[in-house]
Amino acid sequence: MNNNKLNYEVVVVGSGPAGAFTAALLAGKNHDVLLLDKDDFPRDKICGDALPAKALELLYTAGMGEAIDAAFKNGNIYPLKSMRLVSPKGHQRSYPLIKSAGGYSAAVAPRIFFDALIREEAIRAGAKVHRAAVEKPIIENNMVAGVKVSNGQESLEIRAKVVIGADGVASNLARALRGRERHTRCHRAIAIRAYADNIELYPQEVEFYIYDHILPGYAWIFPLSDNRANIGLGMRLDHFRSEPRNLKKMLDLFLNLPLIKPRLKPGFKLENIASWPLNFGSQKGLQYAFPGALLVGDAGGFISPLTGGGINRSLLSGQLAAEVVHQALVKGDLSLNTLAQYEMFCRKKLLKSLRKKHTLANTLFLFPGLVDLFVHHLNDHNPLAKAFTSKL
Ligand SMILES: Cc1cc2nc3c(=O)[nH]c(=O)nc-3n(C[C@H](O)[C@H](O)[C@H](O)COP(=O)(O)OP(=O)(O)OC[C@H]3O[C@@H](n4cnc5c(N)ncnc54)[C@H](O)[C@@H]3O)c2cc1C
Repeated sequence: MNNNKLNYEVVVVGSGPAGAFTAALLAGKNHDVLLLDKDDFPRDKICGDALPAKALELLYTAGMGEAIDAAFKNGNIYPLKSMRLVSPKGHQRSYPLIKSAGGYSAAVAPRIFFDALIREEAIRAGAKVHRAAVEKPIIENNMVAGVKVSNGQESLEIRAKVVIGADGVASNLARALRGRERHTRCHRAIAIRAYADNIELYPQEVEFYIYDHILPGYAWIFPLSDNRANIGLGMRLDHFRSEPRNLKKMLDLFLNLPLIKPRLKPGFKLENIASWPLNFGSQKGLQYAFPGALLVGDAGGFISPLTGGGINRSLLSGQLAAEVVHQALVKGDLSLNTLAQYEMFCRKKLLKSLRKKHTLANTLFLFPGLVDLFVHHLNDHNPLAKAFTSKL
């Protein structure tokens, strides 16, 4: 452990986008921050790697512009111009992607690069980083007072005024703090992703496929260059489990669809095939703030039930947490009274819209013909189509 220091103002558990961004923002305000992760970096995270324009805007606004521009230049971030939607009856249409308010475009970035970029920013801002797996929070006088960690050889207690749980979908901190509160199956999904070279791609265009066997869910092809793509599919967990299904077989079926198969060139092969769950932000009744602790990103559960996208809201939740924690540290009050403001912000700025997206996803599942209608009849100048693509 860094100079055997076992006491910090803030301990952030998990160095994905949510944790690293929270750590960067708090360290940037001169707080004493330790950022822990169980893995060495750079590390992969199973993901579609698509970055909405708003996510990039958040990072630019936080001062990461130079690093992001360099990543665009060296090809670690691939810019997007449009999205192709393919409906259950096979209608397809390409829509231009709407830029964010600040004029940023969406992109695709392998998480092995993207997450390391934000972590570098946290280190640059002054956060200390260490590799250690957090087992559980230390709770004293009904308040989180730190975390118990292990790094293989030793087990330690690290104390902090506030702990940020950013340890992803399988969060140990969320499990310990929320007790029996859980995401139910209709607010969860399971998805598989792989990388592939030698596939014919539409330049700078992400592709979404909605078809009968995969509803409620979709398959995707997200380009990483002119020749390489992130390919995958996901389905809501309650429907996935309603009959025996196998994600790898579903992926093979997708690649054999008449629209896809002819695009696979000699040498095409899937690499790094892996699956991972998603927790939607549409689940009601969950707690995000605790005395001395907050849950951000997937540990809290902010993924869109419509698109499966979670990176933007992970960053946003980190930003909200950093604001509330900074004020609480200045005030010297880390009680639930003060930290509950984070939960209020989350409900207003993140969770409310995600509940509406769950309803929309249910409607599309019940009436998949709506997607056919949408794709067949609404061109990219239509206000409804514009509203839809701006949400992605
Ligand atoms: C297949 C799939 C495809 C997806 N596609 C997209 C997409 O294209 N676009 C999009 O926006 N979102 C997508 N998502 C969602 C997105 O991946 C998540 O919302 C995002 O990664 C959340 O970031 P996070 O920082 O909260 O968690 P994570 O990125 O999961 O990071 C958590 C970190 O915590 C660490 N950790 C875990 N446990 C411990 C522990 N006990 N102690 C210490 N460290 C620990 C992990 O090593 C990890 O580094 C997808 C998800 C899946 C599963």
